[in-house]
Amino acid sequence: MASRGGAECAQRRAVGELEGTEAAAAAQEEPEGSSPRWGAQHAGARELAELYSPGKRLQEWISVILCFSLIIFNFYHLLFRLRLEHIFSVIVGIFAGVITADFLSGLVHWGADTWGSVELPVVGKAFIRPFREHHIDPTAITRHDFIETNGDNCMLTIVPLANMAYKFVSLSPDTLYQTCPWECYVFALGIFVTFTNQIHKWSHTYFGLPCWVIFLQDWHIILPRKHHRIHHVSPHETYFCITTGWLNYPLEKIGFWRCLENLIQRVTGEKPRADDMKWAQKSK
Ligand SMILES: [Zn+2]
Ligand SMILES: [Zn+2]
Repeated sequence: MASRGGAECAQRRAVGELEGTEAAAAAQEEPEGSSPRWGAQHAGARELAELYSPGKRLQEWISVILCFSLIIFNFYHLLFRLRLEHIFSVIVGIFAGVITADFLSGLVHWGADTWGSVELPVVGKAFIRPFREHHIDPTAITRHDFIETNGDNCMLTIVPLANMAYKFVSLSPDTLYQTCPWECYVFALGIFVTFTNQIHKWSHTYFGLPCWVIFLQDWHIILPRKHHRIHHVSPHETYFCITTGWLNYPLEKIGFWRCLENLIQRVTGEKPRADDMKWAQKSK
């Protein structure tokens, strides 16, 4: 039984790899004599990759270490406080945490894709650059190691996780008993925000994904590969949610991102995705 399951999984993986290879081949097709439209050889992609600095690397390392220490500490305390009577509210809390994380992933991704520029002081090179690079070289993320993939998301969750850790050491057991379902919500939100870019990386990976990741993608518990391809159609204006992708369809249906963009354009006069277009059109 186990070996049959293993064989099936290997077969599915091979199909996935084939799909990926075909997608990659299609993506690489360029008219003769032109500069590449995307990929590692694209002029903009090469320039953006060179902007990844040692200082940025250090920030990512510190974020990963702090974040994972806090996750372990909080997980231990949360398990210790859990009671059977919490079960229903904990399940609701986890579900709400995942939905919130998906929405926040969309909001941050949309914000960075649509507004700002790599030239902005500090945030441009450190936080907007990876989004620009990802559109013109979508497979670069699959070559990033664990630290580069997860560093920025770890940084985002340090403050809420530290706040939770502080509560565990300072509040009375009675108060903690009351707030346990809320803390489960915050913890699920923190975990899914932390792992969003890892999940995003898996949605671009067609080689050697573990079977359990493929299972989670196939059941749409995390962002599936086919689903995320919709975002990667130029001009990258929809399907921004990259944790589970559950909110992409409803948000597209109500024109959520378009409405926000129109509003911001009317107020500021800024054109959405102007910087993204500029990098995509770079030829030297
Ligand atoms: Zn994007
Ligand atoms: Zn992507």
